[in-house]
Amino acid sequence: MQDYELTIQHALWRIKRLFPRKEIVTKQEVGVHRTTYGEMVPRINQLAGALRRLGIKEGDRVGTLCWNNYRHLELYYAVPCMGAVLHTLNLRLFPKDLQFVIEDADDQVIFIDQTLIPILNQLAGKIPAVKRLVLISNGQPVPEHQLGEMLDYETLLAAESTDYPWPQLKEQSAAAMCYTSGTTGNPKGVVYSHRSQFLHTMGVLQVDNLALSEKETVFPIVPMFHANSWGLPYACGFAGSKIIFPDRWMGDAPSVVELAETEGATIVAGVPTIWTNVAGYLEQTGKRLPKVHTVICGGSAIPRSLMERMDKLGLHMLHAWGMTETSPLGSTGVVRSWIPENQVLDRRLTQGIAVSGVEIRIADPASFEELPWDGVAFGEIQVKGPWIAKGYYNNADPEKMTPDGWFRTGDVAKIDPDGHIIIVDRTKDVIKSGGEWISSVDLENAIMGHPKVLEAAVIGLPHPRWDERPVAFVVERPEYKGKVTSEEIREFLDGKIAKWWLPDEIRFITEVPKTSVGKFDKKVLRSGAKPFTEAANATAQR
Ligand code: ADP
Repeated sequence: MQDYELTIQHALWRIKRLFPRKEIVTKQEVGVHRTTYGEMVPRINQLAGALRRLGIKEGDRVGTLCWNNYRHLELYYAVPCMGAVLHTLNLRLFPKDLQFVIEDADDQVIFIDQTLIPILNQLAGKIPAVKRLVLISNGQPVPEHQLGEMLDYETLLAAESTDYPWPQLKEQSAAAMCYTSGTTGNPKGVVYSHRSQFLHTMGVLQVDNLALSEKETVFPIVPMFHANSWGLPYACGFAGSKIIFPDRWMGDAPSVVELAETEGATIVAGVPTIWTNVAGYLEQTGKRLPKVHTVICGGSAIPRSLMERMDKLGLHMLHAWGMTETSPLGSTGVVRSWIPENQVLDRRLTQGIAVSGVEIRIADPASFEELPWDGVAFGEIQVKGPWIAKGYYNNADPEKMTPDGWFRTGDVAKIDPDGHIIIVDRTKDVIKSGGEWISSVDLENAIMGHPKVLEAAVIGLPHPRWDERPVAFVVERPEYKGKVTSEEIREFLDGKIAKWWLPDEIRFITEVPKTSVGKFDKKVLRSGAKPFTEAANATAQR
């Protein structure tokens, strides 16, 4: 067989030759921007020319500080296809972390959406190694900044030829990099090769995985800077799917629903908090999204109550698990054909089975001894495969590999005899009470089953007798604000969880702090939480 290099240039070839008429729609301040792959390819060529003119060479890192929009997609193609490395910057990192990742990656140029200038401006004068900034204008007056001269994206493109001599790339060369969001210590860089991106794309497309096809209209509500954008940009390119981009209006349920409706979304993708908001909005307004047949949901576990609500709204959720280090797709919540009807919901709520291409095991975190798939034993998920990291950029955290070559995810799970993965918790979130483990995730999901509860996050706090005990932070649904009691929640949990799992305290808050991508930020909760004794006197407690 031919020794064909597996590179992202193949996606470029497909959108140009096979799908020129397919649309890419981006929400704007007013209305939408509409283009096609056919119109976009000459611009991708021009962008590559502009990068070359700026002195970008093969292997150089090109940063993007951008929302989900068509120009970000142009960068997703032009940068790796001309041999450089796309570094998507997480716009919600703390300034010191943002500075760290720009320096660690050694970004030569940064492309920046105009509305994000204030974020980069916090680093004015602190990132001298960045040679150029390119402004992606939205036509409004540019906000004041101290970042120095900025080149204009459209002017750069206009000066270039609509043809570009794409180089012959090696599949093992770097295509992109993405940093973990640094819940502990500095963020760590993950480098994706062309080969890993190509194979991951093939994995994403499989019918038992995300099943994208030319007939689908895909609406990624997951930020394009998060975990390789869940692989969706290239998967849509391979398949020829129409794409809808929300730009910066990701957390706004009315706008998400309107865009999905008017543009005919069939597959939507986002973390559970997005769907909690959307479900609430649909319930309130009576609106429905009948064309959407799949809601891809990952990033954190789907609460049972959310999946049930979404089922009632006619929205079928497909659970997916993965992480930045796994490109990110690791498993999908497909249900085996032999599972009886009355167990289907339970299985859909698991993190599903490993995607073909990814090998998985659970192992004792200390001895790395493999544990049985009996649905009872639990240990760390460890993974192997062509799109799984073998370490971090600049050798950060070398402990993440086992001596026999498996990547240590830090997630704790059980696996049932049918291969369904059931995530118990993240290693760092599991609550160790009197030598036994309590799953913060299970506890949260049980509490979120209460009809008056909007969100619940559980953390372990140091306890003099039990080492740690659970504390639940609960947000009531707006219509029940101030009307829910701790007793009511405790009674509700009775019989649903083991007695010794009952949270020692339930603290009512107005909002659960979220990470850059909308997951519960337990680091913030932990750092701000009053210890048990102090809290016992707190008036906020009910
Ligand atoms: P961050 O650390 O910023 O959240 P990632 O997106 O890489 O960045 O996070 C990956 C982690 O998210 C996984 O290790 C796992 O703990 C959690 N996760 C992802 N998908 C799921 C899921 N379907 N169910 C439970 N946890 C999930």
